[in-house]
Amino acid sequence: MSLKKGYIHIYTGNGKGKTTAALGLGLRAAGAGLKVYMIQFMKGRRYSEIDAVEQLQNFTIVQFGRDEFVSKENPEQIDVDLAQKGLKHAEEIIKKGEYDLVILDEINVAIDFNLVALKDVLKLVEEKPEKVELVLTGRYAPQELMKNADLVTEMLEIKHPFQKGVLARKGIDY
Ligand code: ATP
Ligand code: MG
Repeated sequence: MSLKKGYIHIYTGNGKGKTTAALGLGLRAAGAGLKVYMIQFMKGRRYSEIDAVEQLQNFTIVQFGRDEFVSKENPEQIDVDLAQKGLKHAEEIIKKGEYDLVILDEINVAIDFNLVALKDVLKLVEEKPEKVELVLTGRYAPQELMKNADLVTEMLEIKHPFQKGVLARKGIDY
């Protein structure tokens, strides 16, 4: 099973559901026999989705980040290095064409924080093999990237339990 043509998706906005939408798509794709690869930028914590997809055959998740908040004004060198490594890895995985669905989780934030250059991500998107479906998630997706995408969804926060003081919950938020 493979796709005839792959499209480019962007899930952005301030509401909850960007990463989980990408994971849901990955689950559906894996069920259909497609090979799925997710690269998580700026994340180093062992999110529960990693435990879940380890039980699946066609779904791989790798992380390029630390289990720490990255400072937008003053990112650590290690944060820049990891994001750059992640982008290089993404390039290899996409160009190989071995994976049908490639998800670059939080790449939009990595661009916004200047950990990776917009022009490098644009190049990656432009040069993707025809058959690869590519998903880019994260707040603050740049206009130019959205212009080059086929499917753009903005999650809009109407309500979130965080506003009531409910902190992140295992199994729901991580
Ligand atoms: P999820 O991973 O749950 O799909 P997301 O990818 O849309 O969320 P991010 O911007 O990546 O959200 O934020 C990461 C963390 O912040 C997640 O734990 C998420 O549940 C939480 N979060 C998302 N949206 C909000 C919000 N509007 N207010 C507070 N916390 C949020
Ligand atoms: Mg997210």
